[in-house]
This record gives sequence, C-alpha cells and structure tokens, in this order.
Amino acid sequence: MKTPGTVRSGALTGAGSPPAPIDALLDLIYPRECPLTGAAPDDDSGFRHLSAAAVAGLPLVTPPCCRVCGAPFFGVLDGPQDCPHCRDLSPEFEDGRTVMLAREGGRTLVHEFKYHGGRHLAGDLARLATLAPGYLERLEGAVLVPVPLHADKLRRRGYNQSALLARALARLAKGARVEELLVRVSDMPSQTRLDREARRANAKNAFAIRVGAPINPAFKHVVVDDVFTTGATLNACCAELRRSGIPRLSVATLAHG
Ligand SMILES: [Zn+2]
Repeated sequence: MKTPGTVRSGALTGAGSPPAPIDALLDLIYPRECPLTGAAPDDDSGFRHLSAAAVAGLPLVTPPCCRVCGAPFFGVLDGPQDCPHCRDLSPEFEDGRTVMLAREGGRTLVHEFKYHGGRHLAGDLARLATLAPGYLERLEGAVLVPVPLHADKLRRRGYNQSALLARALARLAKGARVEELLVRVSDMPSQTRLDREARRANAKNAFAIRVGAPINPAFKHVVVDDVFTTGATLNACCAELRRSGIPRLSVATLAHG
C-alpha cells in the first residue's frame, strides 16, 4: 500500500536571499502586497509578494502524483495508476510535474500572473516549486524551453508568462538554463473553451523550432508552461523538439487543471 496522494498546504522553508537588483527595481514599481491576502510578506521567507498565510493556503501538489501530468493521486493506491487527466495523451515526453492545482488561490495566482499584468510574481511563483518535493531537482542541469506565445499575443500582453517562469525556475535549479528554442507559428484562438480533441488539433503544427536555435541533444530539455490543462500544447512543443533530435524531454508547469 502506498501513501495516499496529497495536495498539501504550503509551509515556508529556507531563509530569504538578498534581492537581485531587478527585484529591488520591481519593488519600487509593484508594492510588496500579497495578491491573495493583501498582507505584506515576511522579509525572511524568500517571497517578495506572497504572504505566509497565502502560501500556507495554496493547493500545492506533493507525490505521489501522475508521472505524465503531475496531477496528485488521491486515496489508497493499489495496482496500475490511471490518471483521468492524461490517459488519452500519448505523451511525447518522459515525465512531468506541476507545483499546485489551478484551484482556489492557485487559480487566482495564475490569473494574476497571466492576465492581470502580474509579471512581478514570476519569482515567487517559481519559489513555490521549492515546496514541491523533487520538482526543482528534475530541472537541474537541464535546458528549460518556455512555451512560446505568438508574436501578436506577446505584443498585446507585453510578456510571455512561461518565459518569465522558466527564467525564475532556472535561477533556483542548479545548472539549469533557458533557451527559447520554439516559436509559435499559428495564433490559436483561446483554448479555454475548446474540448480535448479541438485543443489537440489546434496545437498540432502550431510550433516550430526558431531559426538558428542552438539544439544540443546531449542535454535533457524541459518544456515550461504556466498551466497543464489537457497537455496538448506541451505535447506539440515536445513533438517539435523531438523531431529536431532531442531525445530526453520533460515538462514542468506551475499549475494543473
Ligand atoms: Zn496525468
């Protein structure tokens, strides 16, 4: 019998480090106020915006979880583990992890980060990965490849949240670095209202290797996205990287659902 799957509340670990110059600059622009509780973060927590109460209430994911999409397994686990979220996926990658469920505070944070100009939250969101056992270790020494936005969407939003997340994760995972190897060649309509089949058809052929991108098959590559929903986008990115000759592929997301 294995331990029941868990979504646990967060606990702060580790002492804070001095702010990087860019963080100090961002503090001047964005008040250090928690987007979930409105409280100020503890100075020694390492978080620059998230308060201790907010972190403690997040639906963080800890193992055992699905090897492919990272969704937590609940209850007593005997026999084969069947994940309802990705059973139809045929993954082009070896494994995947996520930090938290896209529910409650987790969902609010993703929306703040992605749709409400919350680029300053990237560092804190990556830091949440320190509370997901084994998450950052999978990124060590790897090339992190953010899921790209189409140029039009990038212009409208002003930033690619997945690239910001990847860069923040690379600062925490030993030996990891970010390479923007992919481009989005078709501007897909918002996927939020599409079913699984439509998402897959939409994502297929949406990505290409950036011209002149430095492909190095010797390294493990981890595709980074903000949310794992059906996995169609991540799978399409991994298929493209695999076609370019990269054999070891994983995915890492901030939230699941
Ligand atoms: Zn799964």
